[in-house]
Amino acid sequence: MVERAALFQPMVDLVRSMYGGGFIPLHRPAFEGNERQYLVDCIDSNFVSSVGARVVEFEQQIAAFTGANFAVATVNGTAALHVALELVGVKHGDEVITQTLTFIATCNAMSYAGARPVFVDVDRDTMGLSPDALRRFLAEHAEVRDGQVYNKGTGRRLAACLPMHTFGHPCRIEQIVAICEEYGIAVVEDAAESLGSYVGARHTGTFGKLATLSFNGNKVITTGGGGMVITDDEALAKRAKHLTTTAKVPHPYEFVHDEIGYNYRMPNLNAALGCAQMELLSKMLEIKAEVAQRYREFFAGIGTRFVEPLPGTTANYWLNAIVLDSEEERDAFLQYTNSREVMTRPVWRLMSRLPMFQHCQHDGLENSRWLEARVVNLPSSVPESDFPRLRA
Ligand SMILES: *Cc1c(COP(=O)(O)O)cnc(C)c1O
Repeated sequence: MVERAALFQPMVDLVRSMYGGGFIPLHRPAFEGNERQYLVDCIDSNFVSSVGARVVEFEQQIAAFTGANFAVATVNGTAALHVALELVGVKHGDEVITQTLTFIATCNAMSYAGARPVFVDVDRDTMGLSPDALRRFLAEHAEVRDGQVYNKGTGRRLAACLPMHTFGHPCRIEQIVAICEEYGIAVVEDAAESLGSYVGARHTGTFGKLATLSFNGNKVITTGGGGMVITDDEALAKRAKHLTTTAKVPHPYEFVHDEIGYNYRMPNLNAALGCAQMELLSKMLEIKAEVAQRYREFFAGIGTRFVEPLPGTTANYWLNAIVLDSEEERDAFLQYTNSREVMTRPVWRLMSRLPMFQHCQHDGLENSRWLEARVVNLPSSVPESDFPRLRA
């Protein structure tokens, strides 16, 4: 494999011009606002754990930012997904339609609910669930009986559809929701990577019945660990709060629980970090779009596909991505950049190739395999040289 002269070293040079010397990670957090102050306030007030005003405040900030009516904070994004799936009625023995090109959390969460994934292909442009593939799959395999949708092949109930906005690029969520509505299948959006990504003026995660966010250390904003369930449905939001707080019946001193719940609430310390990060979010998104623009111009000049959001949608550019010409070129590129301390990464090994899920039904997954062999993520943090702008 010949290293493309216009691509390999010039890409390393571009990254160095934005991020400086030393090891450059794919995504690092930026704590340039009130993070320290809010954490110290928490400690001084003794409210560090599962009770405290910061949790409610952070929930309100996320609801306001996304335009969802309700937001319920959780201990991480996987827990948020688990609860969201249970809230739309996913039960033991069910199946959930999802994409194979995703992070393991998507499939782990359905496994916790006792369900297993059915993999439908993604679109090559969005890297997210393909409405055309979904329509084809349902036309061939779905059967509606007594108001429920069953998979003719496996006999199991198709209880939900879980699309994911890959690397912050919105998938064709409106079409996916419309198709699922025809069949009466609930949509839960995995918006873990897409805080700050929009379809038109509408934030990702507000199209399905419920959606989930993640505030893990590598996401656009972080609470250390954390997640959120967002929804417009008040009853579902109340259930989400109840289930994630051990299903405790509110009472000043008695401990009564009315069902099996989870200890999935976000501690006040983490929420305090989230409140400070939310104050920086708009600026971070602006700077991340500028980083994307630098990559866009560079890759346009050498004829390599830089992954763009669909027209009419806005990406948060959580992780910038390019599509290389072949698996060989991808491997050479990964080797070249990582050995020079510029971190780049292939997409996740497809879920359908992992031992836990390799026996699950799928539709051939042609685009997923094609992308798996070619897509690489590039360093995408807010550059340190832009930190003064976060403080301004
Ligand atoms: C980060 C992420 C999650 C949630 O991960 P946690 O680490 O549990 O917060 C879920 N789905 C996707 C696609 C993710 O990238």
